[in-house]
Amino acid sequence: MTGPFTEIAPGVHVWRYPVLDVNVTVVRGAGYALVVDTLSTAAQAEALAAALADLGVTRYGIVNTHHHFDHCFGNATLTGEIWAHDETCRLLRDEPDELVAGAVERHSADHPELAAGLPSVRLRAPDHAVRGHATLDVGGRTVELVHPGRGHTAGDLVVRVPDAGVLIVGDLIEEGAPPNFAEAYPVDWPDAVATLLPWATGPVVPGHGAVVDREFVAAQHADLAELAWRIREGHADGAPVAEVADRAGPFDAATRRTAVHRGYAELSGRDA
Ligand SMILES: [Zn+2]
Repeated sequence: MTGPFTEIAPGVHVWRYPVLDVNVTVVRGAGYALVVDTLSTAAQAEALAAALADLGVTRYGIVNTHHHFDHCFGNATLTGEIWAHDETCRLLRDEPDELVAGAVERHSADHPELAAGLPSVRLRAPDHAVRGHATLDVGGRTVELVHPGRGHTAGDLVVRVPDAGVLIVGDLIEEGAPPNFAEAYPVDWPDAVATLLPWATGPVVPGHGAVVDREFVAAQHADLAELAWRIREGHADGAPVAEVADRAGPFDAATRRTAVHRGYAELSGRDA
């Protein structure tokens, strides 16, 4: 029995969790596994722990792809040691109240029940900070953790499973919805995707939605690059955010508006 997980490559299993359509990935080695992302709440993470047990996974480490609640608020319910980018570690350790408040604010309108449950979640900071690159031995399998630069957040971490040709990219790539720019670096983002594109030789697991492939990643890179170019051009011309966002272009107008706002701040060297 594999429960809710689908095996997308030898020993690599994905659970496409229905709430927020978020993906949890498990890489299984001999007697040890790696769990990538931990869902949004203690209740969701309890369901994850049960699904891991069904899969026969009892000893495991954890990776948080970034600090957004739907990828790491289940941490405290699970037992394994956790790896994450240095910035993700810092936010979960030093600013837990701000993370909860931000998540509640952003999702109280579209997911009121989920948002209402977030203030009671106990956060758990990762144990191991990764700045650029780390190699893990996952029960005899080599797994690489790589920070490809700023993109969806300042601390995105990508997980490579070379022996299976699998790449797990968090929200640097989004399927089924536009990329989320709320805390993004839209000018740098295409470079981060260009860095990981050569590793996209097989299944690519995005943070949300269906498992994709190299062609999908390349197409999203093209859209991100075009948007970054428009942001640079608008900023150089002194064009208002709304004017640049309202021109036809990749993604929807609301997404472009957030991206242009964030990109202008990035180019001006200030936090949005
Ligand atoms: Zn995210």
